Amino acid sequence: MVRGTNRKQLRHTHPKTSGMPSLREQFFQHVAQTSDSPLGLEIERASGARLYTTDGREYLDFLAGIGVNLVGHAHPKVVTAVQQQAERYLHAMVYGEYILQPQVRLAARLASVTPRPLTQVYFTNSGTEANEGALKLAKKHTGRTRLIAFHNSYHGDTHGSLSVTGREVYRTPFLPLLPDVEFLPFGDCVALGRIDERAAAVITEPIQGEGGVRVPPDDWLPALRQRCTESGALLIFDEVQTGLGRTGVLFAGTHWGVAPDILVLAKALGGGMPLGAFVAAPEVMQCLSHDPPLAHVTTFGGHPVCCAAGLAALDVILEENLPARAEALGTQLRAALRELGESHGGIREVRGRGLLAGVEFDTADRTRNFVAHAFQSGLILGWTLHSDRVVRLCPPLTLSDEELHRGLEIMAQALIAGQGSGF
Ligand code: PMP
Repeated sequence: MVRGTNRKQLRHTHPKTSGMPSLREQFFQHVAQTSDSPLGLEIERASGARLYTTDGREYLDFLAGIGVNLVGHAHPKVVTAVQQQAERYLHAMVYGEYILQPQVRLAARLASVTPRPLTQVYFTNSGTEANEGALKLAKKHTGRTRLIAFHNSYHGDTHGSLSVTGREVYRTPFLPLLPDVEFLPFGDCVALGRIDERAAAVITEPIQGEGGVRVPPDDWLPALRQRCTESGALLIFDEVQTGLGRTGVLFAGTHWGVAPDILVLAKALGGGMPLGAFVAAPEVMQCLSHDPPLAHVTTFGGHPVCCAAGLAALDVILEENLPARAEALGTQLRAALRELGESHGGIREVRGRGLLAGVEFDTADRTRNFVAHAFQSGLILGWTLHSDRVVRLCPPLTLSDEELHRGLEIMAQALIAGQGSGF
């Protein structure tokens, strides 16, 4: 997903110094590989918007662990919360049996900011697991089986989430997936007529992330909300990438005044620790505790250390009003990128909300060159899973003004350099 360097190059840049294989060699030998060109940075430490590698280089991180490090890498308050909780207890019991202070506090804090009546939180370990839970919840609550999703969506890589992910190339090798799933064009109000009384749920990202940072037309989400209410289908917002302030508001649906029936969160939720959640009204959520009891369980979901980290991160987001910062920085970032495109060419469109920005180039080569040149100059960028012509920018919301300007300087140079040379 994050390309820009050649794997053969990577394999040979750090030869072993003793009889032992180098860390890089062991990485290629023993860590399962999912990309033919991993970035392969050997991380020494990370702080704020900066990554430091073992070869002494420093990188400005505009990818932030693909949108995870909303409060920056290793935020001191998150680190302290992790340390303190680790000293008290780690795993104590399968989810939902014991009263674990960090879990309860985070659930209550979240419930104080989620749209009414979404006040009950089910914690998971990841985004895809949270979507799995949301889909099961919708099926059980409605007693229906049909699921509606959208082309170019991304909801995760487990079987259920992949079943509602709208890109054939990732689905085909794993068929058969869940039956009774229909994909509609994202942002098309007319197609919403396909949502009928057989649908248990409609799942969408309010702004598609991996689809290339696609913002829907303004009338679409309200129309979708209305159609779901009419048909009795539960509306699931997958805010794994957009949630918790990244787009300039805590939850992206708010841009259009729309609340879902089930809100799905992950990525930034754990402040850098693995944590996901689906949030719903108590009347909906209660169906997981009967017929049968334990209808959805997880051993590690809502791990106390992850919840302690998540609570600290959420406090930072709210106390420092990071959504407002995302809005202000995002507006500057997109305006500056549009200017760059006008001066140097090659950029077809700049879009997004807050600090989730997509830069669409006119060719895949230009995109690749741009990312590679930025990387050489110490700026980490990446493109989206479903498009090799869109660079996604999702830096920490704690980015300083100086870091934003430095990033823009590097991108200006990368745009000029990337026009000619092939990396
Ligand atoms: N939904 C969306 C919108 C995502 O962007 C992602 C991850 N890119 C996921 C779900 C899956 O999350 P995870 O990798 O934590 O399973």
